Amino acid sequence: MIESVLVANRGEIAVRIIRACRELGIRSVAVYSEADRLSPHVLLADEAYLLGPAPSAESYLRVDRILEVARRAGVEGIHPGYGFLAERAAFAQAVEEAGFTFIGPTAATIAAMGDKTEARQRMAAAGVPIVPGTTEALVDAAQARALAREMGYPVLLKASAGGGGKGMRVVESEDEVERALDAARREAGGAFGDDAVYIEKYLEKPRHIEIQLLGDVHGNIIHLGERECSIQRRHQKLVEESPSPVISPELRAAMGAAAVRAAEAVDYRSAGTVEFLFEDGEFYFLEMNTRIQVEHPVTELVTGIDLVQWQLRIASGERIPFHQDDIRPSGHAIECRITSELPEEGFLPSTGRIRYLEVPTGPGVRWDGGIAQGFEVGLHYDPLLAKLIVHAPTREEAIRRMARALDELTVDGVDTCRSFHRRVMDEADYQAGNVTIRYLEEHPEILTGESAGEVDPEDRRIAAALAGLLEAERRRSIRPPRIQAEDRSLSGWQGARGAWRAGQ
Ligand code: ADP
Repeated sequence: MIESVLVANRGEIAVRIIRACRELGIRSVAVYSEADRLSPHVLLADEAYLLGPAPSAESYLRVDRILEVARRAGVEGIHPGYGFLAERAAFAQAVEEAGFTFIGPTAATIAAMGDKTEARQRMAAAGVPIVPGTTEALVDAAQARALAREMGYPVLLKASAGGGGKGMRVVESEDEVERALDAARREAGGAFGDDAVYIEKYLEKPRHIEIQLLGDVHGNIIHLGERECSIQRRHQKLVEESPSPVISPELRAAMGAAAVRAAEAVDYRSAGTVEFLFEDGEFYFLEMNTRIQVEHPVTELVTGIDLVQWQLRIASGERIPFHQDDIRPSGHAIECRITSELPEEGFLPSTGRIRYLEVPTGPGVRWDGGIAQGFEVGLHYDPLLAKLIVHAPTREEAIRRMARALDELTVDGVDTCRSFHRRVMDEADYQAGNVTIRYLEEHPEILTGESAGEVDPEDRRIAAALAGLLEAERRRSIRPPRIQAEDRSLSGWQGARGAWRAGQ
């Protein structure tokens, strides 16, 4: 087994990886920006090193600094988490060339799947159904019009290098083609330095359903069933669950087999996900994410398989010991992304110091968080603060459990989207499993409405004030030794393992 790992990330995913390392007896090394000095991932790791100022470009995206820290700390492997450098083939390559193990797929696999037209070509060749459309970049508007006429409107223009919904334009009619193509190219060029755009059929009401994969270096690839991620805003997922309420065992087997074929086509190893759109009983390849995903916990809860631990085991050369037939989902899991945004005000980002935090507990509840009391939430990074995940025997019980857990969650000092999730859990179409990627457009009241399960704000304030006093006491007694330890050597210190754990 690999003995030491640098976690090139922050927030909840860094905490998640460090925990997996600890459970496997692997020494963990955190990196952090000046804004994250007192972050849970820094306090939890065995060692932590400062990368630079708060902006990502000067800290979490500094490949040179990360490799320098890896050398100084003497680690064997580097785990990229998700976001930041996770899907940059050049980073995976630089890590391997510097003599470390990249905990993920190879640079060649990342590159092949990072280009959407190349990925579509490979998938079509491997017999995986793709969304109808081209597998090459468009030449001009006349070609786009001709193709759109064949497919029928609406169509979607998409950036080959795309990600995060950038460089995407829906086109409803022929006279919009030219302007939309120009706009998509401009946006793609600005965001990715590559303005290639292709065209595909715009599906009107699909569901987003994805298959989790695990592949080892010995050529074994298995799938761990699906996740339903249809509740999205601007192509960003908000609620995920497993299994999907509409996938039969036969369909699961068919989608799983297609996903395995997709992975085999690029010699996949480590954890990865094949995303599909699903409409009228048919599924279409959308893209492959060559990394651990935000929503991985729902799969962990229904399969009992620790995906992050398996990433570390696979990187150490271990063979996956289970077979496809051993994998059977048990019960139902739901995840709500708790972000520092106000859905009631157009997902306005919120900032501030977390004065009080009460995390739900009890049967079947899991909290994957990257925040703690006293932590300052700023605007430098992704607004994801934590994930609340529940597991129960049935979907209905999981929904009720999530509602209960959301009622127990209190975050004071920064606004979150907690009430939004609470309204989703109460909504009849969600409860019936009638969701598509248009769910929020069809239920605008979820974005604005008053929540049924709100705790009286006055009670919340009193609880927060009392907790604030207790927290101040706690910090007075334990913070000084850690700060001194950090000051002795600003860019590298040995964390006193366990010293903060009582407060985590
Ligand atoms: P990105 O890589 O930019 O995130 P994806 O290809 O993964 O883009 O698509 C993100 C989301 O956009 C999907 O989950 C879906 O909601 C929507 N989408 C993408 N392609 C289509 C399509 N052909 N028809 C309808 N919706 C689509």
